[in-house]
Amino acid sequence: MVEERALTEVKDRVAVVRERMERSAERAGRGVAEIKLMAVTKTRRVEEMLEAAPFVDMLGENRVQEAAVKKRDWPGSVTLQWRLIGHLQSNKARKALTLFDTLDSLDSEGLASDVNRIAGDLGRDVPVLIEVNTSGEVSKTGVAPEDFPKLLERVLACPRLKLEGLMTIGPLTEDEARVRSAFAHLREMAAGVRAASGLPLPVLSMGMSGDYEWAILEGSTLIRIGTLLFGARH
Ligand SMILES: *Cc1c(COP(=O)(O)O)cnc(C)c1O
Repeated sequence: MVEERALTEVKDRVAVVRERMERSAERAGRGVAEIKLMAVTKTRRVEEMLEAAPFVDMLGENRVQEAAVKKRDWPGSVTLQWRLIGHLQSNKARKALTLFDTLDSLDSEGLASDVNRIAGDLGRDVPVLIEVNTSGEVSKTGVAPEDFPKLLERVLACPRLKLEGLMTIGPLTEDEARVRSAFAHLREMAAGVRAASGLPLPVLSMGMSGDYEWAILEGSTLIRIGTLLFGARH
């Protein structure tokens, strides 16, 4: 058991999160191996990111420009998946596709069409998650649940977009029932898509520093952790 108080090293902080992931998975009757840990690295320096890199499964960045600067200093020998988790504007889509392996924050039909077209130009496929606003909070990004069916239809019609699953940001509250019900909603939406489309849709990206244990209880397969690994943001 790792003591949390004295943790100054990223490695130890990851160990604490991994331990809690395991306990939550056990409580949920799930295997922890099916749950991936993304280090969310917005505002972090490349040196901090490289400290975390050996112990996490992937990286998440919010901004195209920030990722571009970091990637210049990123050693080619450290191969981790880079996932875009922040809102993407169409005019940055081309650059985003040169930097990121996946787009996890797909939230509009226009963006889907633009990314599909640019991916075609570049001769690549793009794994995507549709980001859903399950909390109804206006500050949150993501497609509204009522607009989801149309966006889904568009994404499935885009040959370069490979839909891997769904993503959401939980409501900003300590109310366990409310947070878990948003996560359960996303899980049920994914089950609906699976049933209707026959796609496996393996990824449910939900859970951040404050709510990842609840997210795992509700079926998350990908948690996005920043603060717990790196401390308060710069
Ligand atoms: C910043 C961010 C996170 C990480 O948040 P923490 O609370 O620091 O763990 C996760 N997901 C998204 C989309 C974010 O923007």
